[in-house]
Amino acid sequence: MHKFLLFFLLSYSVFSQNQYPQDYFRSPLDINIVLAGTFAELRSNHFHSGLDIKTKQIEGLKVYGIADGYVSRIKIAHFGYGKALYVTHPNGYTSVYAHLQKFSPKIEDYIKAKQYEKESFEIEVFPTPEELKITKGELIAYSGNTGSSSGPHLHFEIRDNEERPINPMLFGVDVKDTRKPTISNVYAYPIGPASHVNGSNKKQKLRVIPQKNGDYKIEDLKAFGTIGFALETIDRQDLAANKNGVYNISTYYNGIQNFEIDFKRFSFEETKHLNRLIDYSHYKDKKQKLQKLFIEENNPLSLYDNIIDSGYITIYDSTASVYKAKISDFKGNETNLDITLKGDVKLPDDVEEKVTTQHYIQHDLEAELEQDNFKVSFYKDTFYDSFFIDFSVKNDTLTLHKPVLPVKKSFTISYDISNFKEEDLKQLYIAELIGWNNWPSYSTTKRKGNTLSTYTKDLGTYVLARDTVAPTIKAVNFKDGSWLSKYRYLKVKINDKGTGISNYRATINGQWILMEYNYKNKILTYDFNDAVKTETKNKLKVIVTDNVGNNTTFETTFFRK
Ligand SMILES: [Zn+2]
Repeated sequence: MHKFLLFFLLSYSVFSQNQYPQDYFRSPLDINIVLAGTFAELRSNHFHSGLDIKTKQIEGLKVYGIADGYVSRIKIAHFGYGKALYVTHPNGYTSVYAHLQKFSPKIEDYIKAKQYEKESFEIEVFPTPEELKITKGELIAYSGNTGSSSGPHLHFEIRDNEERPINPMLFGVDVKDTRKPTISNVYAYPIGPASHVNGSNKKQKLRVIPQKNGDYKIEDLKAFGTIGFALETIDRQDLAANKNGVYNISTYYNGIQNFEIDFKRFSFEETKHLNRLIDYSHYKDKKQKLQKLFIEENNPLSLYDNIIDSGYITIYDSTASVYKAKISDFKGNETNLDITLKGDVKLPDDVEEKVTTQHYIQHDLEAELEQDNFKVSFYKDTFYDSFFIDFSVKNDTLTLHKPVLPVKKSFTISYDISNFKEEDLKQLYIAELIGWNNWPSYSTTKRKGNTLSTYTKDLGTYVLARDTVAPTIKAVNFKDGSWLSKYRYLKVKINDKGTGISNYRATINGQWILMEYNYKNKILTYDFNDAVKTETKNKLKVIVTDNVGNNTTFETTFFRK
């Protein structure tokens, strides 16, 4: 009976690995795959949805279609994925290639025509299956560093037919990895007022003792009541020092599995709930991402399995028990953490004191807070937990708690401007004070009648601010009146100190030209190969507008033959 069950479980797990075709897809690059980021690793407010493949610190590596298919989507954005290409394959999967430098000539021609038609660098199109067919191994693009990428690499994804990203490793991507995951921090969380760890009812940092074989131990905790654990873990692979994410964490209490999280697939709707998996306030405070090995209320993540008592353990008496966490990477390298607990039947020496304020937010109800000109509207389920919020308004400064709690849904902050004169209104906006120097950062502000409002996910400090400074525009690689016959590119630098750039528009002799914007170096680039007709004497005009509507016009003359 037992043997049979084991056999059944084994064949089930083999079967579930094999539901993904192993030889269908080729590699998107023709270099060894070395990863700067793994699937589902913990990023800021999201799980990483693909693999970050290192491109030898350079741009311009050839990117290939991983199987036959067609280009089903092209998106070009200043931030996020930058230049991104989506190829849909006949087996229902879609491969995604992001932060590209440029596309292959056939795709480049297609998208440029659309950009000129729309008069916009940022664009998103969904070509039909007939328009841009791809064969396996066809050059489709060149790797780059566009969008919110902090160094050259290829972001590569595989999505299923419901747009859910799947761990590409499941399709047979080969990455050399013989190293075990490592653990840097372990914490214990006594749950409820009677529980304790080593006499304390407060969250406890545990002393982690590394073992010679790469495992870890925590010795002889005295504990009572219901307890959860959280740990910080990373995995390094063989050919790079990058700290990547692990593949699976399973925990066992006295030999019985009581928790599992595995990173095979998730949906974009759930990715923000990463903030429910990690100890968010700990992360805000110490920059460490502790993964909770227990599941609290209002946690909609689909990554869990084999859960008993939400992953918590409960100690009722003075007997000893063992808690074990098993962490593995995709290649099956495994790290064990053993925690020995001795039951300690007594009341805690200290109890976590609850901070109270005048305003209690019940997470499953709407709430409105109002003082002076500010009003804050929380929707039902803006937060995961109910809590006492720190709310006050003084001299047009709104204190709305500290950014230490995970926010599930955006909420609205509005400001009543009826006391202002009409001519003073235009440049007003709501700013969030950010960073150590409380820099007023533009929070997308809308005006409706006498109300300014912003829709945000950030708790923190907000002020009413004014932007009176227009953007600046400077030529980078040419001077007014110069001959540019041998020039391939025209570059100008644009900047805005207050609310930031919302829009830019460039023309040569009145005709719109495509200027690609790189927000990292603030440079707009025009490529003369775009075949916009130039005369001997040409007039370049660039207009840049900031987020409250201040604008600057730059005009210059250049010659070309
Ligand atoms: Zn990435």
